[in-house]
Amino acid sequence: MAHRRAGSIITPTMDFNPTLSQLPNPSEKRIALRVSAPAERALRQGHPWVFDGSITEQSHVGASGDLAVIFDNKRKFLGIGLYDPTSAIRVRVLQTRQPAAINADWFQNKLTAAVQLRAPLATQDTNGYRLVHGENDGLPGLVIDRYADTLVLKLYTPAWLPHLKEFCDALAQVSPAQHLILRLSRSLQKQTDALHNLRDGMTLSLLPTPGLILFQENGLTFESDPIHGQKTGFFLDQRENRARVEALSEGKSVLNVFSYSGGFSVYAARGGAKEVVSVDVSPHAIEAAERNMAHNRHIPAVAAAKHETFAEDAFDVLARMASQKCLFDVVIIDPPMFAQNEKQISSALAAYRKLTRLGLGVLRRGGVLVQASCSSRVNAGDFFEAVHGSAREARRGLTEIERTGHALDHPITYPEGEYLKCLFATV
Ligand code: SAH
Repeated sequence: MAHRRAGSIITPTMDFNPTLSQLPNPSEKRIALRVSAPAERALRQGHPWVFDGSITEQSHVGASGDLAVIFDNKRKFLGIGLYDPTSAIRVRVLQTRQPAAINADWFQNKLTAAVQLRAPLATQDTNGYRLVHGENDGLPGLVIDRYADTLVLKLYTPAWLPHLKEFCDALAQVSPAQHLILRLSRSLQKQTDALHNLRDGMTLSLLPTPGLILFQENGLTFESDPIHGQKTGFFLDQRENRARVEALSEGKSVLNVFSYSGGFSVYAARGGAKEVVSVDVSPHAIEAAERNMAHNRHIPAVAAAKHETFAEDAFDVLARMASQKCLFDVVIIDPPMFAQNEKQISSALAAYRKLTRLGLGVLRRGGVLVQASCSSRVNAGDFFEAVHGSAREARRGLTEIERTGHALDHPITYPEGEYLKCLFATV
């Protein structure tokens, strides 16, 4: 997606990897569907999915990426979406209420709305953010993160493949970048027949893929490894919580558990923390945390903060620190997703309780606990109650400072989209 300069006007052009043009075109023939009454109600309320089990009539078998039009029982248009025969989420809804042609113009309109929503971030010295948050931005099954001049597009369904070239053309017009990297969800990586030479981590733009990318978040410099890193290389969703930690850190000792590449640690350091400790089981994450701290050494407070790291299991480190009576003023606990499905909810809640207990074991009286959950299966009420309940059992009742959720680049428009919750509390 190189830009060519014509005079002083930058014209985004569409220099894409030829693999993109070799994908099959979308079928001309739309699938017509009818759905059960509850599914119809959900659609009218704006829910973005039609499950396989709720389809009551279907015109023909159809292929992945076909457009499916859903009609109500009076044969009136209900919605149009992307058909995916490989998933229980059989249709991902693109539009309801009015019929639409799903084409480059339609994609451009959606992308323009997404860009406009994020405009305030530019004034906050931030050029790393989620540009498209899937269903919540009306582009279901697709996420785009921007890191400075690199876009990382992650697909969760093969239904996007026949539309990908047209979509990327629209993206190049609306939000041009030097590099466009493709990531595929784990389930999509396995569907090799559908991929037509597309690979996870390949570059869709013509320029060679950059390795590590530097970008700004609230004026801090971070690196992202969009190909080998977790998520698309960085946990952009914690930006606002990191800024809250910065505001709490003056003169404090801060423990960042499940630190990944040290996002919270760098903010704590800029906030004036005298000591920051980052813990993550992944040695790569810890190396990145050390580099991220180094990227910001020109900031006097960051240079002054002592940074110590442990590439170890968090549960072990917390237990050991408690036995050594090692105490902190601020303890941040931001673990990975614990519940992948319904069955794992109770074990996830038990793990959150255990982490609260361990975290409080290393938290000074009057200190601040910051504990987050990114499991969408675990609802916010149950999570907050687990943390409070565990604190009460430990006879260290918590006083809430704040409960926080999603930042503006992670809008939420349907219940299952809600995943991030975080408690700030003093003990
Ligand atoms: N707080 C981070 C994101 C954390 S993601 C940020 O703001 O960027 C969860 C992290 O937990 C991952 O980096 C993963 O490597 C780490 N992790 C998973 N299991 C772990 C364990 N048992 N002990 C320590 N770290 C673990």
